[in-house]
Amino acid sequence: MKYLKLAEFYEEAGGTTKRLEKIEILSKFLKQLDERDRDVLYLLMGDIYPEYDDRKIGISNQLALKCIAKSTGINEKDVLKEWRNIGDLGKVAEKLVSNKKQSTLRSQVLTTSKVIDNLRRLPRLIGKGTVSKKVSLITELLTSASSLEALYLVRTLIGDLRIGVKESTIRDSISSAFFNREDGASKKIQDAIDKTNDIAAVFDIAGKKKLSGFNKLKLEVGKPIKVMLAGKALTIKDAFVSVGKPCAVEYKYDGFRMLIHKDGEKIMFFTRNLENVSNQFPEIVGYIKKYVKGKSFVLDSEAVGFNKKTKEYRPFQEISQRIRRKYNIEKLQDELPVELTVFDILFYEGKSLLSEPFEKRSALVRKIVQNHPYKIVTSKQIITSDEKKAEAFYKKALGDNQEGAMFKNLSAGYQPGRRVGHMLKIKPESKDLDLVITGGEYGTGKRSGWLSSFILSCRGKKGEFLEVGKMGTGIKEKPTVLPSSVKDAERKEKSTLDTGADISFNELTEKLKPYFLKESGRTVKIKPKIVVSVTYQEIQKSPNYNSGFALRFPRFTALRPDRSANSVSTLEELKKDYDSQKRNWRYG
Ligand code: AMP
Repeated sequence: MKYLKLAEFYEEAGGTTKRLEKIEILSKFLKQLDERDRDVLYLLMGDIYPEYDDRKIGISNQLALKCIAKSTGINEKDVLKEWRNIGDLGKVAEKLVSNKKQSTLRSQVLTTSKVIDNLRRLPRLIGKGTVSKKVSLITELLTSASSLEALYLVRTLIGDLRIGVKESTIRDSISSAFFNREDGASKKIQDAIDKTNDIAAVFDIAGKKKLSGFNKLKLEVGKPIKVMLAGKALTIKDAFVSVGKPCAVEYKYDGFRMLIHKDGEKIMFFTRNLENVSNQFPEIVGYIKKYVKGKSFVLDSEAVGFNKKTKEYRPFQEISQRIRRKYNIEKLQDELPVELTVFDILFYEGKSLLSEPFEKRSALVRKIVQNHPYKIVTSKQIITSDEKKAEAFYKKALGDNQEGAMFKNLSAGYQPGRRVGHMLKIKPESKDLDLVITGGEYGTGKRSGWLSSFILSCRGKKGEFLEVGKMGTGIKEKPTVLPSSVKDAERKEKSTLDTGADISFNELTEKLKPYFLKESGRTVKIKPKIVVSVTYQEIQKSPNYNSGFALRFPRFTALRPDRSANSVSTLEELKKDYDSQKRNWRYG
């Protein structure tokens, strides 16, 4: 298929903000898509492989800029100037290519398969000469591109398509294109997406126009699955109303989510972002082999840090480095040990358990996992209808340094990727949010050269990012100086990867730099990528931010490398916090 056709589709879909119109446009596009064009589905999502695949395009703005310069023959400084003026690198490419194309002819017609081919080579490149190889692969595409194609090629490269097509838009468009929006079609398609995390695999089946075809799709051990997410309850009473009585109440552990896959001898770990972290936790491989019965399974769990000497549990931010760190794993394993707390199971001995009731899944977990404290345990749980008992249990969890409690409906299935009303979390008066950085301001004096305040955003109803305040505290003035005995590789990793709670202004600025979108004066707009946990004193209504709210005294507590921008706190959650805060004032 010609890439131009896809670019025209992007343009048309991006031209409307109305969801139904988008669905109509996409559904028309899907209908005329050939089976062989299945990879175009990945491009629609701004990707080159299925969502579960680790290989991403990963091109920085700076590199894209270099490629635009090279392919248009304009010098980098001038391209940079254009970028400062226009603020959208895609639009810069569109303009510069259009200027150039008046004088020269295009060398080749671009096809989607050529685009995919070249883009797929990018993540494979490693070692010496990588940058120039990347530049030549991209430049080859850009020199064949029309101005419209250049616009979307560049936006694809930097991961910012801006056409407002989300997974749910594709789901509903498939339903409309191939199933006439038949009752239940959207749900079946969504289930299929959740099970496979592969939109093209779902498209293959949809093209045959038989809903029953989706039954063939199965969970696969070894392929990451999205986790089920919890809703939020403000009081224990509310929690019981939502999940019903009796229900399971469990400790809400303060660690990070891990899905454990075992397929015979092969054991793999994935985070809630589908990231493969199998190599980072060798000790857990041992626990799984020794203490969990079964040849093949997928377990849902929380890895919780503890102090080796005192055996006290530690908050997430103190152990967050373990997720990304690739060097000196053994040392880290010794310094920051984790206990695996298993609370659910999705697959066992060849069979999916997604539609089994929680009660059964939970019982199976307790049957196959042998408890060995500070290695692997099952979540602490009671089953009760009694609010007083639930409250005492919740208080005990807090006393044990954990975050709160989870309330779980006993008969509900497991819904990957959904925030569900049948699993609810309850935490003390919430003063803690995960937010994404979407802007910053350069400091002055001893902080000049770095961003010294950071704009925080939550997510709105349509997935847009809404500003909620500026954060400047909780961050250190200077980076930690590492002793000279620390090797270069480790040093590099420590400075660029997550340093947990211990980060300085300049380290955080460096971390954000690849995502700078536009600088004007001292302020910078930043692509929503880096997620942070913050505490705050209270929420106020405010006209200063487009969310309508402002956090008072937000304070940085940790980077959240395990979270993506679209999993940050929502405006709804902020509103709830705001309301509950009002309630407390009123009732003391
Ligand atoms: P939150 O991160 O505040 O949205 O709360 C949900 C998270 O709590 C889940 O994603 C898990 O990582 C974590 N969690 C801790 N303990 C449990 C538990 N017993 N059951 C389910 N999730 C838990």
